Amino acid sequence: MQTGSIHKVKTDLNGSMLIMNRREFVQSSAAAVAAVKSVSLASAEERSSLPVVISSRNGIRATEKAMEILKQGGDTLDAVIEGVNIVELDPDDRSVGYGGIPNEEGTVQLDASVMHGPTRGAGAVSCLEGIKTPSKVAKLVMERTDHVLLTGAGALKFALSMGFKYENLLTDSSRETWLKWKKDLNSQDNWINPQDRIPTALISRAGQDIRDAVEMHGTINCNAVNEKGEISGVTTTSGLPFKIPGRVGDSPIIGAGLYVDNEVGACGSTGRGEANLKTCASFMAVEFMKQGLSPEEAAIRVMKRIIENTTEPYLLDSKGKIKFNLNFYALNKKGEYAGVCLYKGGSYAIHNGRENRIEESAYLLEKTD
Ligand code: ASP
Repeated sequence: MQTGSIHKVKTDLNGSMLIMNRREFVQSSAAAVAAVKSVSLASAEERSSLPVVISSRNGIRATEKAMEILKQGGDTLDAVIEGVNIVELDPDDRSVGYGGIPNEEGTVQLDASVMHGPTRGAGAVSCLEGIKTPSKVAKLVMERTDHVLLTGAGALKFALSMGFKYENLLTDSSRETWLKWKKDLNSQDNWINPQDRIPTALISRAGQDIRDAVEMHGTINCNAVNEKGEISGVTTTSGLPFKIPGRVGDSPIIGAGLYVDNEVGACGSTGRGEANLKTCASFMAVEFMKQGLSPEEAAIRVMKRIIENTTEPYLLDSKGKIKFNLNFYALNKKGEYAGVCLYKGGSYAIHNGRENRIEESAYLLEKTD
């Protein structure tokens, strides 16, 4: 069977393998989406009321907190930032902030972005070291400078000048994971396929290759719309585990890891940042909503673009299936919302003003083998 960018394999209803070209594959993926849709317990009315807070699954405490703040009349951006701060400060969450998995030199480097719909403000930091809550620093970039993105040493200097405390972000458990990874490095390693650089111990624990890729990612995106229809969002992450120092993913890039248009809606992402960076996915999703698509339709359309744009052989397995995962979390001004992921199995946290819960995401692809 041909490996590479132009053939995809899918299983038909009888379990036979169908070989399709890229166009057919993308089209059939669209059909699959139409067939599966999102598995939601919510009624249509519940899915379009205000206020709403949506987040990646690991942000279930963030949606709870953010809703509490919205109900007290708090600002939408303050709400989502206070929400994600809970997870940034939690040493046991290894995807963001304190306790995040470090880069290849054992240093935790954090990225974050914020957008405040009512004032059209945006701020971000990347490669920030030693500060547990990069989302708060991103907000200060927005409020106290006329820049949008500060990076590395400059971002740290700025944070210190704003009164943040420099702390060691590497916990014992993240350090242990990094040491195991480092022990496994060998002369065959490269910087092309991140999966090849994941330690064997972690691979065997995670099981399937797709799950490995998913599990080696982690980020929180959290977006909120209040009763007045004001919208804000935040995305925060420790980025790709064991990344090359200085690597920046999608999370701090306005339009990629996060985009808010106060007249329309918001979208943010988690998963393989490089795929998102090449597509400006969150911006595109919000633009599709502006053209009248629902959050789910918009995010699905963007995901199809991601599939079309993924042609690198090292991102496709021997059967031509995409090896990574990507997730979008979107809402609009009416309070309609959706989680959409590339591969089946994703879920997200949603607070609809009455209940805080996890819902399954819509998806485009299924792992069939
Ligand atoms: N999107 C993040 C990045 O690429 C990582 C993730 O969500 O897993 O940095």
